[in-house]
Amino acid sequence: MFKRFENKRTIPMMELMLSLMLSALTTHIAYTAEDPSPTPEASASPASSPAVSTTDPSPSPLVSLVKEGPGGLKAQLSATEVVDGSVLLVTIHAPEKTKASEVTVSYNGKVFQAFPVEEENSKESVFRSVVGVAFGTKMGQSSLQVEWSAPGTSRVVHKLKMPFQVIDGNYRAEVLKVDPRHVNPKKRDLRRIRKEVAEVGEIYRMITQKKYWEGPFALPIDSPITSPFGTKRVFNGEMKSFHQGLDLKAAIGAPINAAANGVIVMAKDLFFTGNTVLIDHGFGIFTLYAHLSKLKVKKGQKVSKGDLLGLAGMTGRASGPHLHWGAIINRAKVNPMDLVRVMK
Ligand SMILES: [Zn+2]
Repeated sequence: MFKRFENKRTIPMMELMLSLMLSALTTHIAYTAEDPSPTPEASASPASSPAVSTTDPSPSPLVSLVKEGPGGLKAQLSATEVVDGSVLLVTIHAPEKTKASEVTVSYNGKVFQAFPVEEENSKESVFRSVVGVAFGTKMGQSSLQVEWSAPGTSRVVHKLKMPFQVIDGNYRAEVLKVDPRHVNPKKRDLRRIRKEVAEVGEIYRMITQKKYWEGPFALPIDSPITSPFGTKRVFNGEMKSFHQGLDLKAAIGAPINAAANGVIVMAKDLFFTGNTVLIDHGFGIFTLYAHLSKLKVKKGQKVSKGDLLGLAGMTGRASGPHLHWGAIINRAKVNPMDLVRVMK
C-alpha cells in the first residue's frame, strides 16, 4: 500500500533553481535551501511517492567490532552499518606513549584528527575521532583508515583499515513537476546568496583542533520533529537538493538553546536561513540554527550546552515558525539527531 506523501509544503521554483546554480558554485548542494514560503509562481506540489519511512531514519545498529592491527593499534567503530548522512565514532587504542597528534583517521579523502579520551585504569592511550558520512554517499561497502604516524613526523607507521557498510537511509522524496520558465531570481538576491554560500563554506573549512563539546548533544528545543533530515527534492525526475537539517516544532519566541559547548562563528541574517547561529564545536563539527526571530549571541562568544542562542521565528525563507537545525562534520552534512544519539 502506498502512502500519500505527508509533507504538504510547497517548494518554490526559485529555490530549486538557486540550489541548482549554487551546486555549480560550490562542491556541495546549496548549503541551505529549504522551508520557503509558497509564492504564486511556485506552484510545485509534492506528488505521491512510494511508501518509505515517515519517521526520522532509525539509528544505525550498534555493533562492536574491534579490529587489531600492527604495533598494538586497535580500533572500533560505533557501527558497522550506517545510512548516508550519519555520524561514525572511531575509538582508537594505541600504546601508552602515543600522542593525539600522531593518530588520524582518513576517510573519503578527508583527514579527521583524533583527540584523547580519558579512560581510567588504561595502560593504553585511547583516542576518538568523529567522522561524518555525508548525505548522498554511495551505498555499499566502504572503509576508513586509522593511521598512526611516527612521532614528530607525518610518516605513517601503521595503518588499520576499518570496513563498514553504507546502507539505504530510506529518505523520502518530494517529487516536483514544475515549469522551469517560472523561475526569475533577482540578480541582487543571487549576489547576496553567492556571497553567503562562500562565507559559510569558509567557516566549514576551518577545523579547530580543539574539542569544545562534552558528551552527547542536546536538542536545541524539546519538541517534535516536523520535517526530518534528508528529504530529497526531486525536480522533474532529478534530485536537486535535500533537506540539510531537521525541523523542530517551535513557536515564535520559543527559546533555542545550544546543543553543545562551542564558539559562535556566525550570528546574523542570511537570505535562506534568516537569523542564523552557527556554532563551532571543534574538530570540524558545527551546528546551525535557522529562522530565528531574535539573536541572543554574538560572533566570537563562547557558549555552553543549553545556553540561549536566540528565539525561534520564521525569518528567511520559512513557511511558518519552526527551528531548522543542521549539523556539519568536516564539510559533510549529517543528521543532527546523530549527534544526540551517537556522540560521546
Ligand atoms: Zn529545515
